[in-house]
Amino acid sequence: MQFVMPAPNLLNCTQAFNNLCQQVRACELKYQRRLNSVNLLAVSKQQTAPLIEAIYQAGQHCFGESYWQEARAKIIALQHCTSLEWHFIGNIQHNKIKHLARNFAWVHSVTTTQIAAELNKHRALAVELSPLNICLEINFATVAQIFPHLDSDVLKLANYCQTLPHLKLRGLMVIANQTTNLPSQRAEFKQANLLFNLLKLHHPALDTLSMGMSADFEAAIAEGSTMVRIGSAIFGRRNGSSS
Ligand SMILES: *Cc1c(COP(=O)(O)O)cnc(C)c1O
Repeated sequence: MQFVMPAPNLLNCTQAFNNLCQQVRACELKYQRRLNSVNLLAVSKQQTAPLIEAIYQAGQHCFGESYWQEARAKIIALQHCTSLEWHFIGNIQHNKIKHLARNFAWVHSVTTTQIAAELNKHRALAVELSPLNICLEINFATVAQIFPHLDSDVLKLANYCQTLPHLKLRGLMVIANQTTNLPSQRAEFKQANLLFNLLKLHHPALDTLSMGMSADFEAAIAEGSTMVRIGSAIFGRRNGSSS
């Protein structure tokens, strides 16, 4: 069942964007984080190109998309926004990897050596592009199946990614189990931050802990996030979606 929402209004979104930026700064202060140490990725899935452009004009440069088919038209439509940077944050389907490797500046959702190898291979073919920034995805809902021995499995994948010349490993993308309560959100994010610090012992250049969404960015900032990925708190609720 699709629940049709009214089209988001440009002015409301710009206002919500400005409010969100202030809330992020306020969280930095509250949790003794360095000012401007938390970057914002505006998650624009299901949003239109004009709306994205309005937020871009308001000062936001990094936008996150979850589906290649949907992102493609927007990437083409917004080519004139020369400092707009596209981040892919969705599940990676093997038949889309070549498009992701060529059209995004970042891919946050790497979970296997095979995906990393294919991204590297296709990025290499785009000779004009610098290495693709990547994060390894830690989704607490599925992490036990993907990385049964969390620390050593993630470290192995990180070690492998570091050998690929057309990828630049930046850190982790963390997705918490949905909880509405700050202490339990913080417990998962704390665990993720410990893992991030462990990886940094081996790979000191890592600089990105992408964690925190509209419902849990305060907990994420409290626990060391360097990038929050925010959709609905800027654009309003998405049409009948859970992801
Ligand atoms: C959709 C999505 C977000 C943004 O979610 P909101 O709750 O709308 O802020 C962040 N990260 C990922 C991986 C997503 O899929």
